[in-house]
Amino acid sequence: MAVIDNCEAQFATPIPEERTCPKCGETVEVFTRKGRVIEDSTCPKCGHVISAEEQLEAQPRKAPK
Ligand SMILES: [Zn+2]
Repeated sequence: MAVIDNCEAQFATPIPEERTCPKCGETVEVFTRKGRVIEDSTCPKCGHVISAEEQLEAQPRKAPK
């Protein structure tokens, strides 16, 4: 149990990631967890909102890098 908790704790930390705005190409910083956007981020240039993505349930396998 403890081992799984530690593993999940790593994935539970939101990771800042740069995404390209699909409308204007501006770089927008979003926060992701397991590679998925966890909260809406607004493009500072054109105002396009990058919506949060649905979160996956915890899986026993590690995500490939
Ligand atoms: Zn934009």
